Amino acid sequence: MQETWIFPPGLWEHNVTVLERLIHYLSKLPGLGKKSASRIAYYLLKADKTLTEALSRDIKDLKEKIKPCSICGNYTETDPCSICSDPGRDKSILCIIEQPKDIQAIESTHEYRGIYHVLQGAISPIDGIGPEELSFAALYKRIKTEPIKEIIIATNPTVEGETTALYLVKYLRETAIKITRIALGIPLGGDLEYADSITLARALKGRNEME
Ligand SMILES: [Zn+2]
Repeated sequence: MQETWIFPPGLWEHNVTVLERLIHYLSKLPGLGKKSASRIAYYLLKADKTLTEALSRDIKDLKEKIKPCSICGNYTETDPCSICSDPGRDKSILCIIEQPKDIQAIESTHEYRGIYHVLQGAISPIDGIGPEELSFAALYKRIKTEPIKEIIIATNPTVEGETTALYLVKYLRETAIKITRIALGIPLGGDLEYADSITLARALKGRNEME
């Protein structure tokens, strides 16, 4: 059972306080250790009831109300999602990303007006993740049925993201679709000396003419 995994068997329910349980659960969240989990739990204990009620309601609703968009795979409360159903979007440009959260990152730039396709991961032979485990079949179907003229590959600058990008390029080469890869490179304020070779190679490939 999930609960016994989350909380050590024997300690479940009666032997621990609500506060101890909450700290334990919070400490399981990414980026939170026991110390920060404890800080959050004590903060919530003192916080206004409207906050704790809204928080618990939304956590509960998260799994019930948010589903993947049947077209692009973005997380959404309405299907299709607000991007897929937006008539102002350029339906001829498709941006391919690994995870729904990558949409947020790209949307925050306000530079992109096309649509998306979430792969739900990246190809990783070591982890046993091939194209079949990802949403490639849905992508191929979209390419055949939608008026897509350009595909922007925005997978992560990791070995898995690059493998996925190369796989996509190989497949799409047969089509008349223009394929571009986002120029990944050295972060602002970054140092060439500390950039790994993949990042540096991509930065060189994606170099721009100085204006
Ligand atoms: Zn969508």
